[in-house]
Amino acid sequence: MTTDIQMVDLKGQYQKIKQEINAGIQEVIDSTTFIKGGKVTEFQHHLENYLGVKHVIPVGNGTDALQIALMALGLKPGDEVITPTFTFIATAEVVALLGLTPVLVDVDFETFNISINALEKAITSKTKAIIPVHLFGQHADMDAIMELARKHNLYVIEDACQSIGALYTFTDGSTAQSGCMGHIGCTSFFPSKNLGCYGDGGAIFTNDDALAVRMRAVANHGMEVRYHHDYVGVNSRLDSIQAAILDVKLEHLDSYIQARQYVAAAYDKAFSGYENLMIPGRNPSSTHVFHQYTLKLKDIDRTALQKHLQSKGIPSMVYYPVPLHMQKAYKDERYRQGDFPVAEQLAACVLSLPIHTEMDDEQIRYITNNLIEFL
Ligand SMILES: *Cc1c(COP(=O)(O)O)cnc(C)c1O
Repeated sequence: MTTDIQMVDLKGQYQKIKQEINAGIQEVIDSTTFIKGGKVTEFQHHLENYLGVKHVIPVGNGTDALQIALMALGLKPGDEVITPTFTFIATAEVVALLGLTPVLVDVDFETFNISINALEKAITSKTKAIIPVHLFGQHADMDAIMELARKHNLYVIEDACQSIGALYTFTDGSTAQSGCMGHIGCTSFFPSKNLGCYGDGGAIFTNDDALAVRMRAVANHGMEVRYHHDYVGVNSRLDSIQAAILDVKLEHLDSYIQARQYVAAAYDKAFSGYENLMIPGRNPSSTHVFHQYTLKLKDIDRTALQKHLQSKGIPSMVYYPVPLHMQKAYKDERYRQGDFPVAEQLAACVLSLPIHTEMDDEQIRYITNNLIEFL
């Protein structure tokens, strides 16, 4: 109903799969295998099959996934890790937390993703890894990123927290799932993500057997053999109830993606042709799974537009209002306002609209009409 529009409608989605979800949860409770084994292993194998990747390592959340990935690479303080400045904080946070040096770079105005030019310029003799973020559900230019990584002998950790299920086509025609192209991929199962559970969850992907062993151990107190701790690890695991929920929702992921793409196509159609609205640019090498549908506004008072939408019962969000180099915790003499003009411009003009698996034509029309009315 037009009176109840949300950024994400998890309740409506649950209503449609309630029986399967409830049965999955009940099965875990009856088994009393709440941690490891059972459902977690089942879900792990189903996700490995879906992605066509050798190893899925379930962990506690997406931030842990990124941290464990970096820990497993054995990087040393002072080693540089390159990541975009226009993203969620987690990417740079784990780099800083481990005493590594985050090196921020600007993004591409059209796709919101890491700028290849800026990335290439930021590579130094201390650079050890690149963390591209596939922002809003669409891949960064992985052909160029993997080529730079090969040339400079760098690790690539894909932040696929917003892009699970997106497909990338390399220039040689081969295809790969999101998070399965770099040495390591990380995802989040936070409830509002495209594959979300009913609490916290995350996973790491890799095709590298040795890295998989190491990351499994890091996630489990640095332990390959029980009670023998070879290195400092963490405790990070997906619990069985979340795995049971994810196992049900994985079956629906493709149709969930299609539902989001349907909304995005309708938005595109409604908004293209308006000079002061820029619809999201597309990377022709990637499908877009639309974790977010993000407009760029031109000569529009964003706060006034948001107020107008809110008065009609339409939520909207600014992802992200402050680039990482302008965040207090990451203030650094290396960076100043003006250093990353594209990210700063985007932070000032982006607006994300409601997009989810339960939206109907009436809601879409209500949103587009009310937004256009404001122009
Ligand atoms: C959600 C998200 C994360 C963190 O995932 P959590 O499960 O919340 O820890 C990291 N990076 C990006 C791009 C995200 O969207």
